[in-house]
Amino acid sequence: MQDEPEVVVVRLGHRPGRDERMTTHVGLTARALGADRVVFPDNAGKSRDTVEDITGRFGGPFDVELSGSQTALVRDWEGTVVHLTMYGERVQDVEGDIRERHREEPLLVVVGAEKVPFDVYEAADYNVGVTNQPHSEVAGLAVFLDRLFEGRELDREWRNADRRVVPEETGKTVRPVDEE
Ligand code: SAM
Repeated sequence: MQDEPEVVVVRLGHRPGRDERMTTHVGLTARALGADRVVFPDNAGKSRDTVEDITGRFGGPFDVELSGSQTALVRDWEGTVVHLTMYGERVQDVEGDIRERHREEPLLVVVGAEKVPFDVYEAADYNVGVTNQPHSEVAGLAVFLDRLFEGRELDREWRNADRRVVPEETGKTVRPVDEE
């Protein structure tokens, strides 16, 4: 988020067709819940286009990139690497340390799709479980980011949006920004 060291989410692996929605939702969740940037594998161009389209309409800043070298990104990251995995340490036990480190340096959050290579477990500073039960990278990412930011991400402001949802008890109102 603004004025804080960067938080980047990297999506490891993408099976075109089968993973399209999940990869897109990793990007949308990263954007909505306070990350600055997402890096998708280079075969996930459709997901990139969708996340860019949403950012163009509902605001940013938020960047989407494709990369052919996800594991190099993890290995060479200058900052803290958190890998989300059901086998990891309990998020509630390590979130304080991670938050402390994020005050000083950028944070890379790694989520998988299919089997994650063991190198990633070794390269990570923290392997973190959001529960030690199998579930989804989207759910794990959402809970992790909310814990990292302690809910501050819910109040973030969006820039360069061309529309804004009006929160209301009932109804679905979306207003063009220039009408505000
Ligand atoms: N079976 C794969 C493996 O052993 O590496 C993981 C498949 S899982 C559907 C896809 C991703 O969801 C994982 O790589 C991990 O990032 C995330 N995930 C699933 N359960 C999680 C949990 N309890 N805590 C944190 N992340 C989780």
